[in-house]
Amino acid sequence: MYLIGNGRLVTRDAANPYLDNGCVAIEGNLIAAVGATEAMKARYPDAAFIDAKGGVIMPGFINAHNHIYSAFARGLTIKGNNPTNFLEVLDQQWWTIDRHLLLADTRASADATYLDCILNGVTTVFDHHASYGEITGSLFAIADSARAFGVRTNLCYEISDRDGEEKMKAAVKENVDFIKYANADTTDMVKGMMGMHAPFTLSNETLEYCAAENPGAGYHIHVAEGIDDLYDSLAKYNKRLIFRLHDMGILGEKTICGHCIYINEAEMDLMKHTNTMAVHNPESNMGNAVGCPPVLKMMEKGILLGLGTDGYTNDMTESYKVANILHKHNACKPNVAWGEIPAMLFENNRAMAARFFDKPIGILQPGAYADVIVLDYDPLTPMTADNINSHVLFGMTGRSVVTTVINGVVKMKDRELIGIDKAAVLAHCREQSADLWKRINAGR
Ligand SMILES: [Zn+2]
Repeated sequence: MYLIGNGRLVTRDAANPYLDNGCVAIEGNLIAAVGATEAMKARYPDAAFIDAKGGVIMPGFINAHNHIYSAFARGLTIKGNNPTNFLEVLDQQWWTIDRHLLLADTRASADATYLDCILNGVTTVFDHHASYGEITGSLFAIADSARAFGVRTNLCYEISDRDGEEKMKAAVKENVDFIKYANADTTDMVKGMMGMHAPFTLSNETLEYCAAENPGAGYHIHVAEGIDDLYDSLAKYNKRLIFRLHDMGILGEKTICGHCIYINEAEMDLMKHTNTMAVHNPESNMGNAVGCPPVLKMMEKGILLGLGTDGYTNDMTESYKVANILHKHNACKPNVAWGEIPAMLFENNRAMAARFFDKPIGILQPGAYADVIVLDYDPLTPMTADNINSHVLFGMTGRSVVTTVINGVVKMKDRELIGIDKAAVLAHCREQSADLWKRINAGR
């Protein structure tokens, strides 16, 4: 039992949203109680005390879509690479990297990512992995890393026809093996899904094969990330993307569709009808110049739409900040997206996690998992239950996080990592990534 108190407590619990001087009591891996600091100290006089020093105590962030495999792209120059559209970005950049990823690269990429998550207060990560250089064992390597760093995670491998049938089948098997492993795991720290690249690299035969092999998990797939995905579906199947996926049995309450930039209202209605989830990645969409997804309309339709980073960053406040301005800019209306974006980040990501994990996360209330962060933040204007999100949006970044607790375990306290040798992890990553870069550029 220990307490984290003496901070501005943001619970994300509608019944008790904010306390000026609040405290969380943690017993094992769960939150035991939430209340005023002095009252909690009196109630648990023998408990150890982590002092938030007047900062903000809140639930750890959840990233609903990430790509560990992209970690070593930072600073990489691929000779001859100059993509002029999204398909060229995939082919010249991401598929080139993932075809060279061996298990050691995947493991080090995961170490780098989970370390950065702890530093940014991200306590749960939904990852979408591709390493066509070495498929088998890749999700297990990532899970080993997640356990070593103590980060809660949901993993899948990106099935695709792009490297031929043998590799497609190996990718399906990696998902199936991992889902079975995760289903048997009782820690509730690791979950598995069936990962899929995108409809335009998946034939109907492959989708049928995936469905036949799937041990009952949901799918995590990119949909309409570029307009070519839609053109491909119309040309080959005479159907829009969401309708094709529905006909192939891919939609449902455990399925996550990433991006959804070129979907129409009928497709949104079908997503809502099937209770299918979606995830928005604003920085990635802007960086790839693929267009602005209709997320305000999707929110209006009541689709469970979360917020991710697509490997662009591990700082969820970046996604919040960029989504906030992207949708104002796109609509030419400065009064929109104030409510929708924080609802995606703080309510919908939590609701998405609840479809996979046994106990609540993303909320500070008794019985929820103790995934808690403390941020160094001293507001320059009054902070109340009604304006919390404005303080997060304009006042905080991932680097404001000073203390990260996941599943009751203190991973970082006052910016000091606990049980993690950051310098050694990063030195190994630099070595591994330099080796990867050499292999990628060999013969180019
Ligand atoms: Zn993605």
